[in-house]
Amino acid sequence: MPTSSCPIVALVGRPNVGKSTLFNRITRSRKALVDPTPGVTRDRHYDRVVWEDHPFILVDTGGIDDNPDDALVSHIREQALAAIDEADIILFLMDGRTGLTPADHAVVDILRRTDKPIFHVVNKIDGPEHEQELLAPFYELGIERLWALSAEHIYGFRTLMDALGTVLAERTVDEIVIDLPEDTVKVAFLGRPNVGKSSMINQIVGEERMVVSEISGTTRDSVDTLLVRGRYSYLLIDTAGIRRKGKTTEKLEKFSILKSLAALERCDVAVVLIDAGEGMTEQDTRIIGYALEQGRGLIVLVNKWDLVAGDKKRQEEVLAAVGQALPFLGFAPLLTVSALTGYGIKRLFPVIGSVYRQFKAKFTTAALNRLLREAVEEHSPPIYKNKRLKFYYTSQIGTCPPKFVIMTNSSKGVHFSYERYLVNRFRQGLGLDKVPIRIFFRDKT
Ligand code: GDP
Ligand code: GDP
Repeated sequence: MPTSSCPIVALVGRPNVGKSTLFNRITRSRKALVDPTPGVTRDRHYDRVVWEDHPFILVDTGGIDDNPDDALVSHIREQALAAIDEADIILFLMDGRTGLTPADHAVVDILRRTDKPIFHVVNKIDGPEHEQELLAPFYELGIERLWALSAEHIYGFRTLMDALGTVLAERTVDEIVIDLPEDTVKVAFLGRPNVGKSSMINQIVGEERMVVSEISGTTRDSVDTLLVRGRYSYLLIDTAGIRRKGKTTEKLEKFSILKSLAALERCDVAVVLIDAGEGMTEQDTRIIGYALEQGRGLIVLVNKWDLVAGDKKRQEEVLAAVGQALPFLGFAPLLTVSALTGYGIKRLFPVIGSVYRQFKAKFTTAALNRLLREAVEEHSPPIYKNKRLKFYYTSQIGTCPPKFVIMTNSSKGVHFSYERYLVNRFRQGLGLDKVPIRIFFRDKT
């Protein structure tokens, strides 16, 4: 079972150069496969794109970090620095109509510090007629290759994307692809900077004293740990990323979510850490939302429990805040732990195991139909338009999470309360207490 990562491509540039136009251009063709999780707003600044078989995460850094109070140059400098740290490929956009600006100069200088692939793009070149004239001022930057583009009128788009595709393809070849033992459960540890992800992995590895080999990840700053525990093996994916000494600015925190997105691409189970000292934050909710959208198994760890050990009131507050922020999350196991003292960590692996098994569980059609019959007998369906709702049969149509279809005489007549009853009845009857399930209703024709 090979493992590979999902590169992050960042759009960097001053406001108004056309980043969001290009972002939409690239992501628009994407087919919407995700079904949105209630209560979690989809963030339109990141999106998963597959370009000619190469998946990547595209991020509009302008959208991440719109802080009009910042002086322009320092603002975009920070953005570029964060992109260098967190992204794998950078598309730096300039504005061909405005011409070269001091801020562009400053960013190009910052980008020279990295050897990551960078595309210097001059946007708003709306056709070949003005290309040479509009590009000319930008040669002063001394950049070998400038890409002329009109994100709005699609000039130069294909050429740019083909070149990006080539870089993505080379990257895949360069990647160290490791063969993992069959049935390795891939577990990503996610959460805000300093929540304790690395400490947690160290604690697990130390405490369990198992066969451990460190696999250097595809980017120099991430390390996967393969851990064999009895009959099972686990790939522990750390998303901590690079830490610039003594600096965890708010901006870096916002960028750190990219590492989570990339790790979600390649994990089965997402373990999201929350800091008991700080309580639940918006960023935590967002990470959990992404995990659900990606259809990953989810476990919530409230870490640093030692900080609130003697404080019953604070403990209740923290747990209540998690429940409030995510009312739809009743299924996800929630453990209180401490990476520092090791408290609660023994409980983690059995939970990872059951989440994984439940996520992948498959049921026979006969068993499912029996369950459906019992459910309907115990609680008869409502009347819809003078007719009683009928449910004919059911079958499983997918896993991760388990998905079922139920054929009915009127899918429109299945109201929320009866749907919720069936979902709960199925979860109970199938022993799926730790994962969400989806039931779709179809009209029998
Ligand atoms: P952002 O702030 O960098 O995300 O920039 P936007 O994508 O919001 O674009 C800023 C403005 O530039 C909008 O009015 C766009 O319609 C316009 N724009 C974007 N791309 C092009 C382009 O290729 N040609 C022209 N003429 N205008 C563009
Ligand atoms: P990461 O950025 O999420 O990988 O976080 P680290 O593992 O580097 O931890 C950040 C800081 O929190 C470090 O100073 C850790 O010692 C501390 N820390 C991690 N886990 C705990 C915990 O359970 N309790 C306490 N009190 N501190 C912790």
